[in-house]
Amino acid sequence: MSRLPLSLLPETATVQQDGSLAIGGCDVAELAAEFGTPLFIYDEAHLRARCREAVATFGLGNAVYATKAFLCTAMARLAYDEGMLLDVASGGELFVARRAGVPAGSLVMHGNNKSLDELRMAIVEGVRHIVVDSFDELDRLDALHAEGLPRPNVVARITPGLHVHTHEFIATGQDDSKFGFNLGNGSAMKAIDRMRRSPSMVLRGVHCHIGSNVFEAANFAKAAELMAGFAIPLDLPELVLGGGLGVAYVEGEEASTITQWGNVLLDACAALGVTSTVSVEPGRSIVASAAITVYTVGTMKELPGIRTYISVDGGMSDNPRPVLYGSGYEAFLPREVVAERPMSARLVGKHCESGDVLVLDAALPADVKVGDLLATPVTGAYGHSMASNYNKLTRPPVLFVRDGAARVVVRRETYEDLVQCDVE
Ligand SMILES: *Cc1c(COP(=O)(O)O)cnc(C)c1O
Repeated sequence: MSRLPLSLLPETATVQQDGSLAIGGCDVAELAAEFGTPLFIYDEAHLRARCREAVATFGLGNAVYATKAFLCTAMARLAYDEGMLLDVASGGELFVARRAGVPAGSLVMHGNNKSLDELRMAIVEGVRHIVVDSFDELDRLDALHAEGLPRPNVVARITPGLHVHTHEFIATGQDDSKFGFNLGNGSAMKAIDRMRRSPSMVLRGVHCHIGSNVFEAANFAKAAELMAGFAIPLDLPELVLGGGLGVAYVEGEEASTITQWGNVLLDACAALGVTSTVSVEPGRSIVASAAITVYTVGTMKELPGIRTYISVDGGMSDNPRPVLYGSGYEAFLPREVVAERPMSARLVGKHCESGDVLVLDAALPADVKVGDLLATPVTGAYGHSMASNYNKLTRPPVLFVRDGAARVVVRRETYEDLVQCDVE
C-alpha cells in the first residue's frame, strides 16, 4: 500500500495542485507530450548541486566526476563548469569530454586495458594523469616514450584486497579482480618500484576504487586505512580513493550524502596521518537521483493466480541494470505522485525476451491503465550510459530541465541512425 518516497525524486521535483509531477518547474506530462516516451528527464539544479557538494567537500581539483555513470556533451560541460575534473575510461569517453571543451588537464584516464592508441591519445592531449592498471600498460607507456612522446603523470591503481558488500559485478577491490596491482601479493610494490625508476613517466600517487553502490561508510574507512598504510611510506603527492558511494533506489534504502562520505574519508585519512592530497571519483552519487525515466503503459495482462504484467515502451535497452544486477526500482504515475500503490505487477519492457524486466514486483496505484505515463525514479546513473539498440529500438532523448525550461541535450535516435554504420 506504500506511497512513493518523495526523497527518491530529483531535488526540484514538486507535486502540483492536481497531484501531478513537475521537475525543474516543468510539467512532466507536458514534457512527455512534447518529446515522447521513453524519456530521460534530468533536474539540472540537482546535478549542479551534487557537483558543488563534491567540490566543497573535497576541494577544487580533488573531486573527479566518473563520466561512465552518464556522459554527453552537456553533462561533461556541466561537471566541468561546476569545478569537477572528469574521469574517462576509454578513447571514446576522452573524445566526448574533449569535444565538449573540457581541457585535457581536467581529465584523468582510466581503464584496465587501454590500447596503445588510447594511451597515445591521452598523452598527446595532455591529460592530468593516467591511472595505470597493469604491467602490460607500463610496457606500452615505455613504447610510447620511445616514440618520442612526453612523459605522462601516472597514478598506480592498487587492489587493496577488500571485499565490500555490493553486487559481485561491481565489487572491484577484492584480491580476485581484473583491476589494478594487487597489494597482498607484492605486485603493487613491484609496480611502484618500476614506475619510480621509469624514465617514461612521472609517478604522482596511488589509487584505489573498492566498488560501486557501496552503502557502509566503514568500507570506505577500511579502504582508506589499507591505502594509507601503503601510501604514506611512499611519500607521493596524491592519494585517490575512487568512487563507489551508494544511492537509495527503493523505499527503505538509506545512503550517506556526499558530504557525509567525504567526512568519513577525510577524517580517516587525517587520523592515519595522510599528508598527500586526497581526491575521489564519484559517478553514481552525482547523477543517479537527478533523473527519472518516463514511459507509456502499452499493455496490461492479468494472469489469474499468477501475476499481472505491465509492459512499457522501453525496457532493458534504456535500463539494463535490473537484468545485469537484479537491481530494484520504484514505479509511479506522474499524474498522481503520492497515490497509494496497492497493486502489485511485474513491470516489463518491449524486448523479445522474458528477462526484459524493469521492476520484478512494482507497487502501483490500482487505477493504472493503458496509455498512462509511468515513471521510474533514480535512473540518472548507468541507464542512458549503458543503453543499447537491442531489437533496434531507438535510444531515448535526454532532457535537462531547469527554471521552467527544458532543453534537449541528447535527441531521440531516428530509424536512420540505426543504419548509419551499415555498409551496403
Ligand atoms: C566506476 C568508477 C568510479 C565511479 O563509481 P560510482 O560507483 O559511480 O561512484 C570511480 N572510479 C573508478 C575507477 C571507477 O571504475
